[in-house]
Amino acid sequence: MTNPVVAVLGTGTMGAGMVRSLRRAGIPVRMWNRAAEKAQALTDTGAEAFGSPAEAVAGADVVLTMLFDADAVIDVVRQAAAPAGTTWLQCSTVGVEGVERTIAAATELGLVLVDCPVLGTKEPAEKGALVLLASGPEQTREQLAPVFDALGSKTLWLGEAGAGSRLKLACNAWLFMITAGTAQSIALARGLGVDPQHFLSAIEGGPLDTPYAHVKGANMISGQFPVSFGLTGAAKDARLIRAALQTAGIADRLDAAVLETMDAAARTLPDPGAVDLSALIIGLTDRS
Ligand code: NAP
Repeated sequence: MTNPVVAVLGTGTMGAGMVRSLRRAGIPVRMWNRAAEKAQALTDTGAEAFGSPAEAVAGADVVLTMLFDADAVIDVVRQAAAPAGTTWLQCSTVGVEGVERTIAAATELGLVLVDCPVLGTKEPAEKGALVLLASGPEQTREQLAPVFDALGSKTLWLGEAGAGSRLKLACNAWLFMITAGTAQSIALARGLGVDPQHFLSAIEGGPLDTPYAHVKGANMISGQFPVSFGLTGAAKDARLIRAALQTAGIADRLDAAVLETMDAAARTLPDPGAVDLSALIIGLTDRS
C-alpha cells in the first residue's frame, strides 16, 4: 500500500498531534495554519509548512481539515482550491447543519468528501490513538487506510457522508455529561466539607468509574486547566448538540444546563480559549 501525500489544513491542538502521528508513520505531510508559527513549530517532524492553503494542497492526494468550525472549514477549503477528484478528509466537528454545508461545498468543488470527525483529545491525537468516525464513498477506503492507521486506534465506517458528524454529536453529548457530572460531584463534595479526592477514590475501579472522570477531575481539584479540549470549542460543540436535539425533536434541557455552566465559567475567565473544558467547574462554584 502506498502512502498518500496529505495536506493538513489547521495545526491547532488536534491538527498538530495528527501531523506528528502521520509523520511517525512516514506519511508525507504538507501543512498550513492561519497563525503560521504553529505550522512552523512542526517542521522538525519533516512536515513542510506553507504560506497559504493553496500552496499546501498542491500535489497532495488527501486534504485533511482540522479547523475550529464549519465556517472556517469551508472558507479554507475554498481558498485551497484542490483539483477536482481530490479526497477531502474533513475531521473538524461541524454538527448537522455544518456537515450539510460541507457536503454542498464538496459537490460544488468536485472534491470526494469523507466526513470523519474524531474521538479523542490532544494526547490521543499525538499518539495516533484517535477513534475515526468515517463516512463517505467506499472508493476512498484503500487510499485512506494508511492515514487512518497512523491517526487512530479504531475506524468506524458509518455509511454516507454526514453519518460521522451525526454520531460525533451523540458521543460529545456523552462526554459533556461525564465532565459536568464529575464537576458537580467534586463541587458538591467540597461544598459538604468532604475531600473531593475521596469521590474519585470511591468510584475508582467500580461500575461507575470512567478514566475521563479522573483526568478531568484531577484538573478540577487542582484548579489547573491546561488545554486538551478547549472550553471555547466545547461550548461550540454544546451549541451544535442543542441544535441537533431540537432538529431530532428531543428535549435539550440536559445539554442546555451544561452549556449554561460552560458559559457561566467563560464569563469569569480572562481568556476562555486558553483553558480546558474541565474549567466548567468554575460555572458551578462562582456565583458572580
Ligand atoms: P484549536 O486548537 O482551537 O485549533 C483550531 C484551529 O482552527 C487552529 O488551527 C485555528 O487557527 C483554526 N481556525 C479557527 N478559525 C479559523 C478561521 N476563521 N480561518 C482559518 N483557520 C481558523 O482547536 P482543536 O482542539 O485543535 O480543535 C479542532 C477541531 O477538532 C474542532 O472542530 C474541535 O471541535 C475538534 N475536536 C477537538 C478535540 C479536542 O479534544 N481538542 C477533540 C475532537 C475534535 P489559528 O491557530 O490561526 O487560530
